Amino acid sequence: MFRAIYLNKTPENTTSAEIREMHDSDLPQFERGAVTVAIDYSTINYKDGLAITGRSPVVRKFPMVPGIDFCGTVTASEHASWKTGDKVILNGWGVGEAHWGGLAQRARVSGDWLVPLPEGLSSHDAMAIGTAGYTAMLSVMGLQAQGVTPGHGEILVTGATGGVGSFAVSLLASLGYQVVASTGKKDEAAFLQSLGAADIVDRASLSSAGKPLQKERWAGVIDTVGSHTLANACASTRYGGVVTACGLAQGMDLPMTVAPFILRAVRLVGIDSVMAPLEVRRQAWARLAKELRRGAIESISKTVTLAEALPVAQQILSGAVRGRVVVDVQR
Ligand code: NAP
Repeated sequence: MFRAIYLNKTPENTTSAEIREMHDSDLPQFERGAVTVAIDYSTINYKDGLAITGRSPVVRKFPMVPGIDFCGTVTASEHASWKTGDKVILNGWGVGEAHWGGLAQRARVSGDWLVPLPEGLSSHDAMAIGTAGYTAMLSVMGLQAQGVTPGHGEILVTGATGGVGSFAVSLLASLGYQVVASTGKKDEAAFLQSLGAADIVDRASLSSAGKPLQKERWAGVIDTVGSHTLANACASTRYGGVVTACGLAQGMDLPMTVAPFILRAVRLVGIDSVMAPLEVRRQAWARLAKELRRGAIESISKTVTLAEALPVAQQILSGAVRGRVVVDVQR
């Protein structure tokens, strides 16, 4: 038997969420390459908040065990790459959306989706990082692949106290970039400075409709927010600068003109963590294990029980959560 968060559709077409005792025989079957994992820790990401509350249709079939991330130990494997006892991480691949996910004590997934827990990280570290930290690293890699170096100037990070944002601030600062953090939480200025932010801007200055071209400031941007914030960030990026876009905390829309692209050669780079190829994932996780400042993991994350994860799912959607929430599925 094991415990899991269990989502279902109600007759009123809303989503119900409860903690349920389940049997190993309830776990999904795979035609080939299945790996069963005893989970140590999972997390609550923004997408898990959407799934658990039913606020947005991210769950593609019911019943569903949510949780787009997990880290644990292989207990059975039909996949050539994995054996009993291996420590593994899972992020994305539609897990927690179309396949049962990590907010449980046990999971069965395709072995093709797993990456090894890198040396130097514990299961708890890996889930404090989770999809958010791994996406922050993909965003940093996106800027670097386009040639943005610390010498080019200031880098704006939006949604800076969120999971992706706080890891982006920390990673960029460790690499020597001059980071400007945009946040709606004025009382978290000290937290952002402790992660390495050199300056802080009020997110209100970016969140409403602005001019198509604004004063040039950013050499690069890591945007986690979308909508007017991303539009204003592009409009104030310097000639030849690079903007990465991974999120939609403000909205999925992008109300802007082509002016930054055709008059300032600004480059907009999309970041996706869910279907990223294995090689890119391995590279991102290896860099996280090496380059993240140790104190950052502790200061960015807090840990809750499986039952406590349910209210956190509500809080993350209202932008009230600072940093990352690790879920200890054994408690
Ligand atoms: P999170 O922890 O909830 O952080 C989002 C942050 O955005 C909040 O902490 C808040 O930061 C800011 N924010 C919230 N509501 C806002 C609003 N209405 N207007 C402007 N800013 C707002 O979420 P996360 O896990 O970091 O994820 C951030 C976004 O990236 C989400 O949209 C998520 O779905 C997306 N994401 C995408 C991928 C991918 O593969 N593309 C992977 C991971 C996450 P401040 O209070 O500091 O402003």
